[in-house]
Amino acid sequence: MSNGGLHSGAIIHADVLATMDDAGTEIADGALIWRDGAIVACGPTAELAPQLAGIEAIDARGCVVTPGLVNTHHHLYQSLTRAVPGCQDASLFGWLKTLYPIWARYTPDDVFAATRLGLAELALSGCTLSSDHLYLFPNGVRLEDTIAAAQTIGIRFHPTRGAMSVGESLGGLPPDSLVEAEPAILDDMIRVIDAFHDAGEGAMVRVGVAPCSPFSVSRELMRDAAILARDKDVMMHTHLAEDADDVRYSLEKFGCRPGDYAESLGWTGPDVWHAHCVQLDPSEIALFARTRTGVAHCPCSNCRLGSGIAPVRAMLDAGVPLGLGVDGSASSDSGHLLAEARQAMLLQRVAGGAGALSAREALRMATRGGAEILGRSDCGQLQPGKRADLAIWPVAQIASTGNWDALAALVFAPPAGPRDVFVEGRGVVRGGELVLSAQTEVVAGAQAALARLMA
Ligand SMILES: [Zn+2]
Repeated sequence: MSNGGLHSGAIIHADVLATMDDAGTEIADGALIWRDGAIVACGPTAELAPQLAGIEAIDARGCVVTPGLVNTHHHLYQSLTRAVPGCQDASLFGWLKTLYPIWARYTPDDVFAATRLGLAELALSGCTLSSDHLYLFPNGVRLEDTIAAAQTIGIRFHPTRGAMSVGESLGGLPPDSLVEAEPAILDDMIRVIDAFHDAGEGAMVRVGVAPCSPFSVSRELMRDAAILARDKDVMMHTHLAEDADDVRYSLEKFGCRPGDYAESLGWTGPDVWHAHCVQLDPSEIALFARTRTGVAHCPCSNCRLGSGIAPVRAMLDAGVPLGLGVDGSASSDSGHLLAEARQAMLLQRVAGGAGALSAREALRMATRGGAEILGRSDCGQLQPGKRADLAIWPVAQIASTGNWDALAALVFAPPAGPRDVFVEGRGVVRGGELVLSAQTEVVAGAQAALARLMA
């Protein structure tokens, strides 16, 4: 695999290679070459043959190759609170109140085990870049517990330093024991940005700031976090307009809709992405399109919590930048990004008919769309100059054989998982198995943490 001291690799003979470039180019019998983490050539296998000498090439016959999927919203620590009795059938606010006491027991080891489990699940669903939103820090938990976990899986990681500061005694939703003082929150945001944020091309870790939601932090913290983020040139993330209760809270407490509240505190712009936005009205959609504010659409979570159907078609038509998110495993229980793309397509059709969202539009949101809202113009496309982040999907299996359009079938008839996943040209999944960690060890570590939490 060595070539002039640089690490090189190639894929050849992909049934279809979906580039996700501006024209949506799809290459039959496709090939791709990378060197030192970046793609250097992409085209039909026959055309690239002269450049393949001396490079070990992976045969992708019977497979579709896409850019690695990008997850734009998650709470990885929640991977140990799937299907918790008492909140299986609750809507957002009741669900949160049941889970807060469990989350208050987490230790750094539990957060590490949960994060490693969630990122393993994502990698095995074709994800090469995931954000995370960690907004509670009990018992000495720190953001670096999640960064250490990401390094054991090997995918790109954008942890955000979340926060809650308005507890029950001040009219907020979380218990007072789970909230932090605002000066300490801002100090820790600065600490983790300075310690871990990498602004460079091909960065494996980028840090963002992410007050949890308008109903768990003050107006001042929202404003100060935005000022801090812009001073440090990092991205900003929060939850917005998730359901009708969320909008009602905004109208009662702040006297305006969530989009207006966000705008008044500096929370619109190309460096901001909001999770959910199920309840944005037409004027808020226009605001987000005008300001290039991103949205992380999380359809499984929205269904699970009965939050409604996000106006994805309207947002796409208006030009709102859109990506997909699996959301935390306490509200979508599974973290399979391709399943999320399928759910996004199906859910839009429930609202808007069979033409409401195509399989290719859903895949584009799951790849390039996500990379764009995370500020990663170097990821999300298979083109020379972009990072070598890709997934190889076998489509000659029981559940996928018989299709007439292999790329669309990834969404209509999704395979169980990718055969291989590469990040920066390095294998993180090969033959359906994690490369850097043993899957049995990931599960055993999570089970041990779960036993502690249940004790
Ligand atoms: Zn969330």
